[in-house]
Amino acid sequence: MDGFSAAEWSRNSWVESANDPACGFPLQSLPYCIFAGEDGRARPGVCIGACVLDLRWCKGAGLFEGLPAEIQAACETRTLNALMACGAANHAALRSRLMDLLDTGADEATRDVVSAALTPREDATLLKPVESANYTDFYASIHHATRVGRLFRPEQPLLPNYKFVPIGYHGRPSSLVVSGTQVRRPHGQTKPVAGGIPSFGPTRFLDYEVEVGLYIGTGNPLGKPITVRQAGDHVFGLSLLNDWSARDIQSWEYQPLGPFLAKSFATSVSPWVVPMAALAPFRAPIAQRPAEDPDPLDYLFDATDQYTGAIDLTLEAWLLTSAMRAAAQAPHRLSHANLRDLYWTPAQLIAHHTSNGCNLLPGDLLATGTVSGREDDAAGCLLELTAGGAKPILLSNGESRTALEDGDEVILRGFCRREGFPEISLGECRGVVLPAL
Ligand code: CA
Repeated sequence: MDGFSAAEWSRNSWVESANDPACGFPLQSLPYCIFAGEDGRARPGVCIGACVLDLRWCKGAGLFEGLPAEIQAACETRTLNALMACGAANHAALRSRLMDLLDTGADEATRDVVSAALTPREDATLLKPVESANYTDFYASIHHATRVGRLFRPEQPLLPNYKFVPIGYHGRPSSLVVSGTQVRRPHGQTKPVAGGIPSFGPTRFLDYEVEVGLYIGTGNPLGKPITVRQAGDHVFGLSLLNDWSARDIQSWEYQPLGPFLAKSFATSVSPWVVPMAALAPFRAPIAQRPAEDPDPLDYLFDATDQYTGAIDLTLEAWLLTSAMRAAAQAPHRLSHANLRDLYWTPAQLIAHHTSNGCNLLPGDLLATGTVSGREDDAAGCLLELTAGGAKPILLSNGESRTALEDGDEVILRGFCRREGFPEISLGECRGVVLPAL
């Protein structure tokens, strides 16, 4: 059933740092990024161990000869969009070539050439990897939906559509920012106190949301849906995503059309896009649904997807406050959850998104929604962790929080671990809160 080759997963690299099983960036991962070269020009790269490999340089050195012209040209562009548009077969061909170039089997001459294209990861300035024309945010964690719903509707936490419809909304691609970008506390309208009029000012309940973003490779023509079975060929890779949220603004504006300005001021993405092939050993059955839950409607059901459509990926949220930073203290872990526990698989999200004929474009970003688990420490945002701001959480240095404060840095981490396999890391997605203007 496992869709990967054992031989592929036993290969090692002559880039020694990649062979530490805990490094997170082994030969089998090769996540894509965009980084600034010495000349300042943005270029595609892949991470191998503690280094970034410059794909533009490799193309110029003739290392991709024999690969389709389309994918060679994509290695000379300034975003990953063209690479994403090349199609699954081309992605596999490039990945295979990169693995051969970096494998211990590569000859001395090849290693010499490739070595010149390696930069230490810590020296590389990582840029926003993709210009997404569209950004959709789903609501695929039933544990998140239930905990949040309970705050507002204790008698009926889940609305009647939840177990049938993968709920989502169209987000704002213009405010997608790469990890490390500071996030300005937004202004907005908040609910009037009894009888008064609403006020306008900086949010008093700034929050984060732990999410995973799926980047679309090839899209679909307008009017032609993608089935659950076909969806795998349309996903290029995964990143971490923080859907910053202003809860007080959100709770006043969200009815009847859903989130708007409470979300669109910033959404952070991690710099690495981990290809789906790197996640093959970590595919998992979809989370068991309670017996009384309905089966997915036919267009959302595929037997193979039910067995292998989920991903065993651990997600953590950490908080580093100004006080912790000043005292050189380690960040405090707020939560840990698993992507496996979502109610819908990535393939179901894509099938639903396109089921009305809506077209996805290369580079489009589909986020899962806050990834939470059943346990209290698996809640992927402060809204859940603090029960709507009612219960402050105590941090490791004695501070407490019900909402993010200016100077707070939220750090998301993601990784796949399985006995007998090297760890696959999604890296980090970080952002510091700046005071309101
Ligand atoms: Ca969200």
